[in-house]
Amino acid sequence: MKNIIFIAPPAAGKGTASELLVERFGYEHISTGDMLREAIASGSELGNEVKSIMEQGQLVSDEIVIALLKEKIEEIKGKSFILDGFPRTLPQAEELNTIFQEEGIDNYVAIFLDVSEELAMQRSLGRITCSKCGTIFHRYFESKKPKVEGVCDNCGAELISRSDDNEESFKKRFETYISNSKAILDYYKDKNRLEIINANREAQESIVDIEKVIND
Ligand SMILES: [Zn+2]
Repeated sequence: MKNIIFIAPPAAGKGTASELLVERFGYEHISTGDMLREAIASGSELGNEVKSIMEQGQLVSDEIVIALLKEKIEEIKGKSFILDGFPRTLPQAEELNTIFQEEGIDNYVAIFLDVSEELAMQRSLGRITCSKCGTIFHRYFESKKPKVEGVCDNCGAELISRSDDNEESFKKRFETYISNSKAILDYYKDKNRLEIINANREAQESIVDIEKVIND
């Protein structure tokens, strides 16, 4: 199985796809956010550095993220992994390429989850969660609408929206991602590593195409 670099705009379904891949194929899911939290919890020297940087509200440098990533990849050596949230910039992609060379990793694919802005926005803004049992419903998608508006089918508690976004902020986040990811898409395209997956459908459907790509 190929290692995966996920390149996905907000609400493209990356989370669900990752969960399915972990469940079905035993992928190791490497997210930069989790990696930073783990480093802090470990109390290592690097972890303490991360902690103080984040406490000051600053961004953790590429250098540190890359050092952690390298450690992680060595730790799980031999297992297939999904990279989630990295690289986000061209210099990061180049650094990642160096790690891959150093670690002898050549079996990988960059997967772009191609979703329309409109659908992504509907997905993101329409998601409603039960305040009690956590079941997820959706305001706009027929198959996921609650039977009674605003009420959980399972337990009868109130459904609430957890989205921090409104239309305008979602648009901005989405469009920023798209324009920032152009350079890395080109980078992987030039290397013949890029696969574009249509993500304008349920994750269970796009996963079929992803499976083809990783087993190819
Ligand atoms: Zn409920």
